[in-house]
Amino acid sequence: MTAVGIARDVFAEGEAQGGKPSVPADKAVVVTKAGSQPSAAGAADNFTGAVRVDMRFQRPLPARVGGGIVTFEPGARTAWHTHPLGQTLIVTGGKGQVRHWGGPVQQIGVGDLVWIPPGVKHWHGASATDGMAHVAIAEAQGGQSVTWMEQVSDAQYRGSGR
Ligand code: MN
Repeated sequence: MTAVGIARDVFAEGEAQGGKPSVPADKAVVVTKAGSQPSAAGAADNFTGAVRVDMRFQRPLPARVGGGIVTFEPGARTAWHTHPLGQTLIVTGGKGQVRHWGGPVQQIGVGDLVWIPPGVKHWHGASATDGMAHVAIAEAQGGQSVTWMEQVSDAQYRGSGR
């Protein structure tokens, strides 16, 4: 049987079963409903202060994209870290800060987009007085989308030192 013939048969079988063409699982659109996966606390090794992670996702190969929504209480921040293929942040709430190693603390707010290039050591988090939420999106390389390093000291958070 030709490929077209097989496809026609599969289609016809699907129609016979439910009136809709059958589709392999990896070809079907997936909707993850809001509230269907629990919020998770940011791991104490990787964050300072109170951090919540929601809607975390990692798409299967050949897709490499993953991410989630991260919410930081005032003063909370990530540890220093890098992303092998970079990271995009979309700020969706509050006021925050981001800094690369050796650079200034940059203020970020709702609607701002942040690009962290591949391999750049950095941190991101809330401002000292306001919480902050962002969507974080990064591609994985060899199954890894982040390399965690040391915590951000209070002095580093305030913008002094490295
Ligand atoms: Mn990052």
